[in-house]
Amino acid sequence: MEWYEVYFLTEEEKKHLLKGLLPRSRELGIAEELRGWNWPAPPLQPVYDTVLALYEVANSYCPTNRDLYLRRVRRVFPAPSAAMVQGRVLHAALVHVLVSAKRLIYSVGVAQYQTICRELQELGPVNVESELQALAPEDAADLKRKVAIVTEFEKARIISRIQEILFKQPYIGEDSLAVLAIPVIVEQKLDGSFLGLSPNLSTDAFTVCEPMIVDLKFGERRDFHRLTTTGYALVMESLYEFPVNIGCLVYGSFRGDRLIINKDLHIIDDELRQWFIESRDEKARMVYEEIDPGFPAECYQGCHCYAACHG
Ligand code: SF4
Repeated sequence: MEWYEVYFLTEEEKKHLLKGLLPRSRELGIAEELRGWNWPAPPLQPVYDTVLALYEVANSYCPTNRDLYLRRVRRVFPAPSAAMVQGRVLHAALVHVLVSAKRLIYSVGVAQYQTICRELQELGPVNVESELQALAPEDAADLKRKVAIVTEFEKARIISRIQEILFKQPYIGEDSLAVLAIPVIVEQKLDGSFLGLSPNLSTDAFTVCEPMIVDLKFGERRDFHRLTTTGYALVMESLYEFPVNIGCLVYGSFRGDRLIINKDLHIIDDELRQWFIESRDEKARMVYEEIDPGFPAECYQGCHCYAACHG
């Protein structure tokens, strides 16, 4: 694949969205009872008095979800795996660049755009030393290298976007430049209470121009990843009462010192909505009734709960 920006769509992806996915999502139609704003009625109305985090509903790395049982029923909290720490740290690295860029645009001002670009160019990576302490030295060194790659990648892309926008719009103001150059709200805080979810949810990113939930993953693609975008879409609909039909999973991986980005743009259709609700109800029941779901035929490699499950 090519070099893509992390949270922004390429021209081809935009075309795919505007000419393909959006018209298709309108044709498809979404069942009214599966819109987030219908949370006071079944099937969206929560059945159990258990509040789940969105990731607890969406993730299914353990086929029987015994990790959830351990955490929520047995109150066992194993240390996160290296892969989990990596995901968290790389996400923080990106947020650092995006938020710093916005801050620079507002504080320095468009008239001094060269200063914005220079200061962004000089921006150092986010400080993740405390997170790295949990890792083996070689994993920590590798993650530090990846943080630097992600930071440089995103800085270069934002600088080129700022220059391109200023070239086309010489009289643009700060607010408009910030929205066009960085058209995402990162880590938007959302209250998922209407749907039986945590009141302190946080989306990876929400695009401003088209209501689209963006979620960033570092690791293999899994079919249940789409439940994350689906869950946030339902929460958005429950809070703001406008339809959110599109999700985008951004997969980052590394090849040598290159960051490779692949995207999975998808319609948040009835099937995904149904799946999310079923997963929420099934998991809420497991926690509420304290049901041990048992072990899968095979535990996945690197599960951070292995010692807790198998001694
Ligand atoms: S060790 Fe196995 S059963 Fe336990 S949480 Fe991990 S995958 Fe599930």
